[in-house]
Amino acid sequence: MPIDPPLLDILACPDTHHAPLDYDADAETLTCTECARVFEVRDGILVLLLDEARGAGTGAGKEDR
Ligand SMILES: [Zn+2]
Repeated sequence: MPIDPPLLDILACPDTHHAPLDYDADAETLTCTECARVFEVRDGILVLLLDEARGAGTGAGKEDR
């Protein structure tokens, strides 16, 4: 489910800097322009949680490779 451009305008990173997010339509992710965290869209719902974000090196996630 695509995200409406008007919605993207008001979306911001949940971190303290509240930077704008960059939407990647192919990957269905939003990347913070400030901290580079990657937020996923799951079942059409944007998961704007720092704990669920990918990319930023803080905190021990479940990174298996
Ligand atoms: Zn951020």
